[in-house]
Amino acid sequence: MTVRLIATGGTISSHHDGRGWTELAGSELVAELVDDLDRAGVDVEVVDVAAGPSSHLSVDDMSAIAGHVRDAVADGHGVVVTHGTDTIELTSFLADLLLPAAADRPPVVFTGSMRVHSHPQPDGPRNLLDALVVAGDRAARGRGVLVCVDGLLHAAARVVKCDAGSLDAFSSAPLGPVGTVQGGTVIVHDDAPLAGPHATDLAPDVPLLTVYPGIDPSEVARTLDGRRGAVLEVFGDLNVPRTLWAPIHEAWRAGTLVVLASRPFTGTTRSEGLDLLGAVGAGGLTAQKARLATMAALGGGAGRDDAIEFLHARRLVRPHDERSSA
Ligand code: ASP
Repeated sequence: MTVRLIATGGTISSHHDGRGWTELAGSELVAELVDDLDRAGVDVEVVDVAAGPSSHLSVDDMSAIAGHVRDAVADGHGVVVTHGTDTIELTSFLADLLLPAAADRPPVVFTGSMRVHSHPQPDGPRNLLDALVVAGDRAARGRGVLVCVDGLLHAAARVVKCDAGSLDAFSSAPLGPVGTVQGGTVIVHDDAPLAGPHATDLAPDVPLLTVYPGIDPSEVARTLDGRRGAVLEVFGDLNVPRTLWAPIHEAWRAGTLVVLASRPFTGTTRSEGLDLLGAVGAGGLTAQKARLATMAALGGGAGRDDAIEFLHARRLVRPHDERSSA
């Protein structure tokens, strides 16, 4: 299969040539892997679409990258996106939200590196080779967007960067990785999420506010006022300080989709308490991902009930939770 590499900058392409920093083009990264790719039977075509650190990317920039991914998939190619690791979990998830699902959809795999290209033992070449092999492998077809780093395959919806200073910087805890790639052998676990429902558009105006102890309720009221949707990062199993119950309730009554996320994992989306408050849970998504999912859910002018359905379909489920709720 031909794999299209979409290069977007990041540490994986950063190179110090002794005089200063340069950014390598995607074709230069691929050129070093030619023998391995020949052996693996993977053809690669390259398009460079962005450069620099991924912390500079806006949601529009991320959407543009997702658009390139969509075009490549529509052309029948497996896709690899090289990306900075700071926001790889967000652009990959946005692509997951915006890509039409299909049982035989070619694999889409994001990768990056923790060490620059000129490091004496760079991790980028191995990560890129692994990602290209996965993108050319039938086992990854029809799955959601993957992130491939350090020999592990993570679902974009689950993965977070949990350590800014080590090679195994990514975790899908408390859920696990969805596969591995070792020495060119790709294993995708049966429970790797399938491609999910997708959005065609993003609602632009969805703020995210982290609730902290003693936060002024008027700050929350201001954030929610007049919005179609908003995400609040709260505590534990979506527990909200009592001082915020009134502003949240009022915003919900005024039509705002209030989505609660939490730093610890909680798969809750609906509950009696949330219904009374006037909010839904982010279903295990991090607050940052919940914001993107809410933008997608409300995209194209979708009403609140449809948006809630979308979020519910996108929730993360631990296998034992699924069994106990069956
Ligand atoms: N700061 C870099 C970025 O996200 C880190 C990396 O590329 O890994 O672009």
